Amino acid sequence: MSPQVPSTPSPAPVQRIAVLGATGSIGTSALDVIARHPARLRASVLAAGRQVDALVALCASHRPEHAVIADSQLYPRLRDGLRDAGLSTQAHAGDEALDVLVGGDGCDTVVAAIVGATGLASTLAAARAGKRLLLANKESLVLAGDLLMQAARSSGATVIPIDSEHNAIFQCLPAQRDDQALRRIVLTASGGPFRGRSRASLADVTPEQAIAHPKWSMGPKISVDSATLMNKGLEVIEAHHLFGLPRSRIEVLVHPQSLVHSLVDFIDGSTLAQLGLPDMRTALAVGFAWPRRIASGVALLDLAVHGRLDFEQPDLDAFPCLALAFGALEAGGSAPAVLNAANEVAVSAFLQRRIAFLSIAEVVEAALARVDDTDGSLDGLLAADAQARRDADQAVVRLAHRG
Ligand code: NAD
Ligand code: MG
Repeated sequence: MSPQVPSTPSPAPVQRIAVLGATGSIGTSALDVIARHPARLRASVLAAGRQVDALVALCASHRPEHAVIADSQLYPRLRDGLRDAGLSTQAHAGDEALDVLVGGDGCDTVVAAIVGATGLASTLAAARAGKRLLLANKESLVLAGDLLMQAARSSGATVIPIDSEHNAIFQCLPAQRDDQALRRIVLTASGGPFRGRSRASLADVTPEQAIAHPKWSMGPKISVDSATLMNKGLEVIEAHHLFGLPRSRIEVLVHPQSLVHSLVDFIDGSTLAQLGLPDMRTALAVGFAWPRRIASGVALLDLAVHGRLDFEQPDLDAFPCLALAFGALEAGGSAPAVLNAANEVAVSAFLQRRIAFLSIAEVVEAALARVDDTDGSLDGLLAADAQARRDADQAVVRLAHRG
């Protein structure tokens, strides 16, 4: 028998990371964490929708091999901007180029942080290619969660949720999950900027008021979703797919301090929670390093400074979008896809001041009234998404005229 020679641990290989939605709120936080660990993390692909100058600036600081702009008309500006900055980063444009890069050898890890259902194709490409998938793009899970999780299981992709609540639950669940031992999960919600207000008092709120989130700094779409509580509704559906739990085992609890990011109840009476300051870099650091831990730049939580943690039930009357999402999850089929698509249309119309804040729920409700059967295929779900957008557009026109 040969003696066991203790081997020196070899340094972890550098993780090459594609950051999709690099110019956004999550993308910027991801790049901040990556830059803190040059010996183990490297941004190899950066992608954005239309912010071409911001993308070139990010390429100058992070030196990726590839940069992708979704809007093909902006390709010359990206190519020339990279060249003028003296960078060797290769320019690409369009969704197909992105999917090829995400599925190819140029990255091991994908941060899926595009906003909206438009992020589905690249998220699916990462899942199919077996990448470590840091999944922030919750709309893709709401639209096609079964297909996405199935693709990840088939390829062996590791999916790490980058939503503070789901990341918290991910951290609290044991690696070897025992479904009998788990009682339920509780998603916390800040309540958004309008917590405590009556439905009637929300009639005239402006986009500026809606996106001024009290605790989190985020992109405009998710900020409006937080104000309507649709964000929590999307997150309930997201949790259903990520953790394989029915609606009856997913609760929502309003927690205005946003320090307890979610909780898991077990049958023995134990409740585990993950706490921390509201900063997405914690979830991203978990995503990059799990099961290890790396520094994220987020300060330590000092509970003595904060003093108290409050909890209350959500107000479904003032915030009907949450009830609509519960209903869509229970209805199943294409209802979640319709909910999500109609909400994207409604939020965009609200941000453009075409409809009132309270009309967001009305637009979603109008689209949900027309849900058709689906075979659950990707084409079927995309058709439901497209039909819901047409229905929602019509509802927007109707409600805009009323205003
Ligand atoms: P954001 O609006 O700040 O950024 C969106 C990014 O997506 C931008 O970089 C934009 O250029 C890019 N993009 C848009 N369309 C694209 C396309 N077709 N191809 C490539 N890139 C495209 O949004 P955000 O707040 O960073 O949110 C991103 C996602 O993460 C959303 O799904 C959101 O729900 C989720 N999320 C965000 C937070 C947060 O704290 N911001 C927390 C949890 C989950
Ligand atoms: Mg969240």
